[in-house]
Amino acid sequence: MNKQKNLLYWRRTKIIATLGPATDTEKSIASLIKAGVDVFRLNMSHGSHQQHSTSVKKIRKVSRALNRHTAILMDLCGPKIRVGKFKDGAINLKAREQVLLSCTAKLGEPGLIVSQYKNLYKDVKKGDRILLDDGNFELKVIRIKDKNVICEVVYGGELKDNKGMNLPDSSVSTSSFTAKDKKDAELAIKEQVDFVALSFVREAKDIQSLNRFIKKHGGDIPVIAKIEKPEAIKNIDEILTVSHGIMVARGDLGIELPAQKVPLIQKELINRARCFNRPVIVATQMLESMISNSRPTRAEVGDVAGAALSSADAVMLSAETATGKYPLKAVRTMDSIVREMETHQWLKGHFGEVDYNETATSSTTERKAISHAVTSLCLELKLQGIIVPTRSGSTAIVLAADRPTSPLVGVCADARVCRRLSLHWGVIPYHIEEKVTHDWADVCKEISVHSSLLKTGHRVLLVSGFHDDENLNMPVMKMLSV
Ligand code: PEP
Repeated sequence: MNKQKNLLYWRRTKIIATLGPATDTEKSIASLIKAGVDVFRLNMSHGSHQQHSTSVKKIRKVSRALNRHTAILMDLCGPKIRVGKFKDGAINLKAREQVLLSCTAKLGEPGLIVSQYKNLYKDVKKGDRILLDDGNFELKVIRIKDKNVICEVVYGGELKDNKGMNLPDSSVSTSSFTAKDKKDAELAIKEQVDFVALSFVREAKDIQSLNRFIKKHGGDIPVIAKIEKPEAIKNIDEILTVSHGIMVARGDLGIELPAQKVPLIQKELINRARCFNRPVIVATQMLESMISNSRPTRAEVGDVAGAALSSADAVMLSAETATGKYPLKAVRTMDSIVREMETHQWLKGHFGEVDYNETATSSTTERKAISHAVTSLCLELKLQGIIVPTRSGSTAIVLAADRPTSPLVGVCADARVCRRLSLHWGVIPYHIEEKVTHDWADVCKEISVHSSLLKTGHRVLLVSGFHDDENLNMPVMKMLSV
């Protein structure tokens, strides 16, 4: 039993917390890291560049002091479409009445809604739905006249200034990488954040534009594709190919698609991302009621548990930690739910099987085969751990996608790679100061003992040499023991 406890000391599913007014102090950041936060998310829909730069510095300072490799993910808003302001701050929408959505008016009033998106009249057609305020209200397009869209209210209510607008039936012509995103990406490069997430991705081209922009501006930041549009689900393989990972952004996804479709899509996206060795984040409303209550609902507990059981790489908190009353409690709650599920999975002997299919490339298949062998060895030989010297993180990432039962230590001389590994399922980043010139096996043995993986009579498997380029792929395995 002691042995089991030791191996489960390292939580496999990572926790992402959104930083905001409720948590943006060094003291809170330190408490959240100690409670188990692996990655902080900066939401670029809110706050100034000055505020975000200060947050980056605080996170870096606190992580260094705690000797942790906490990563920072900057979440770009993408083309979020919104209504404008109203004369009186809000209007009442009544079912079956007609309203005019104007692309030219400055201020809304009863019967008139301003669209901040000026091409709205070009992108919608008769019969399309327009959803407002997180899908709470619904309009149906009756006709388009000049730059106005005339709609009938299907579900009404009080519509306030600047609420979001979703167009689930229309093909939006605006780019997914907006002018604001470009400014924010420049900040991401300047502050050297660890990941950038792009919202409302529809196809691989959206991610490629951001990848190119980052490279052109001298940056090297992996991009996470937020999956929240039906088009992204259709194009998921090409998106996975060019992204570092994906986020199941269930807030907007559940508006763009019928909400009942989201749970199975989530499961399929986790499976698909693992086939491509990509990390997958499950996001939004995970412990929503903890924004104002100190205990989660039973349904929320079930939701976090479900994400862990289907072996997502990471689970994410949004307003719970950004503006909520109980940010620390929310992280502790998430940590305890995930640990409970992982204990169950460990005792069952697997952390989530994956259905691979034939889209993988031959080099991926070779690495996958070796990765499966490593996973089997962990189980059959009851290995205490896997230790992976890695330059780019690649070997650790591919092995982690197989969800081996033994803890996986990713040893790396590049602090940036160590932070990136913080997002990946089950990887414990371990930073070494310099490039090792002597025998890796000796170094890994020392690290295994130092990190309490290796004790007398125990065995740890050293794995190295995976490479994205098939010609450079030279896997090595070596059993270490003391
Ligand atoms: C979402 O829609 O679920 C999401 C994570 O994006 P945002 O918080 O930017 O709306």
